[in-house]
Amino acid sequence: MFTALTNPEIARYSRHLLLPEIGVAGQLRLKNARVLIVGTGGLGAPLALYLAAAGVGTLGLVDFDFVEESNLQRQIIHSVRDVGRPKVASASDRIKAINPHIKVITHDTTLTGKNALEILRDYEVVADGTDNFQTRYLVNDACAMLGIPNVYGSIFQFEGQSSVFYAKEGPCYRCLFPEPPPPGLVPSCAEGGVLGVLPGIIGTIQATEVIKLIVGGKTPHAALPVGETEPDGGKPLIGRLLLFDAWRMQFRELKLTKDPRCPLCGENRTITGLIDYEQFCGLKKPETEKPVAKITATELKARLDRGDPLQIIDTREPHERAIVKFPTAKIIPLGQMTRRMNELDPAIDAVFICKIGQRSIFAIRALERAHYAGKMFNLQDGINAWAREVDKSLPTY
Ligand SMILES: [Zn+2]
Repeated sequence: MFTALTNPEIARYSRHLLLPEIGVAGQLRLKNARVLIVGTGGLGAPLALYLAAAGVGTLGLVDFDFVEESNLQRQIIHSVRDVGRPKVASASDRIKAINPHIKVITHDTTLTGKNALEILRDYEVVADGTDNFQTRYLVNDACAMLGIPNVYGSIFQFEGQSSVFYAKEGPCYRCLFPEPPPPGLVPSCAEGGVLGVLPGIIGTIQATEVIKLIVGGKTPHAALPVGETEPDGGKPLIGRLLLFDAWRMQFRELKLTKDPRCPLCGENRTITGLIDYEQFCGLKKPETEKPVAKITATELKARLDRGDPLQIIDTREPHERAIVKFPTAKIIPLGQMTRRMNELDPAIDAVFICKIGQRSIFAIRALERAHYAGKMFNLQDGINAWAREVDKSLPTY
């Protein structure tokens, strides 16, 4: 445990030391703190940059992903030269460039029910910067079991939200959302888009909450050096859900209460260990369900070249076709699929396309439920695969 700041640290953190709410005692707590950032994408970027700059002594980063061109619109911790590198490596370099005084631990892996407790138990605060429900429930459950606060944020299109889930003092994520939404109902940012600055705002709010929890001594193994003043950490977002709408530029706040029937943090707990979160979120297909027939972009090209009769259905939204068009496709957005089923000819094979091959599966499933009689194929990995494999003059997005 560090009991003093060095002279270079005093110079660096001067503007914090001048705040009586932080001061030397608060800065020492930050220096001794260990924070895990789950995900180094849109939310993880400002989290890592600001927590590094603020002097959090040990920052852990979890991510299995690699930097892509389409990340650079919002994931400001990564640069053009990092495209193709593991995100944790790129983020770690940038953090060290900002603050050589702190330690970075990288976990180049996917967080699962098998490894989460092992990884999280070394930290005293977790900031959740993930973009999927299975990891969100996993982080929530693991934090509640370990008794550490989970600083939550999520974003979609122009809207974001943040809260602090700390089962010891308030509700957890399950108190708010007991069940995940059915898979595919809530589109991801990769499908629905997101304003580039939005994760900057929400991630920065999360970083603020992390700092307040540490400075206020709210973390379970916070070092508590005796100072002239004892920082109290202000008012955390525990029991409050902050909602932000960037398009209207409005903040709102909802009061959250602990659900006494919460299976994780309520009175009669039924969840006592981590589970299979992909299954919990419905991502594992029941074995009875027949898989959707698929076709690769290269196979589709061969069939078109042979002159096979085919009907190609573009299930994307109108504004997406301004980005890239599939030349011979019939256009039926996903939401209109069953209503316009009579426009398809069941005697001719139909190939369904979208951006990445997800929504097109929903289109096929919807038509199956409506008893469409023709043969249907899903273009695997969508029009992006067509652009990569077949027509390299087209952009990917
Ligand atoms: Zn709960």
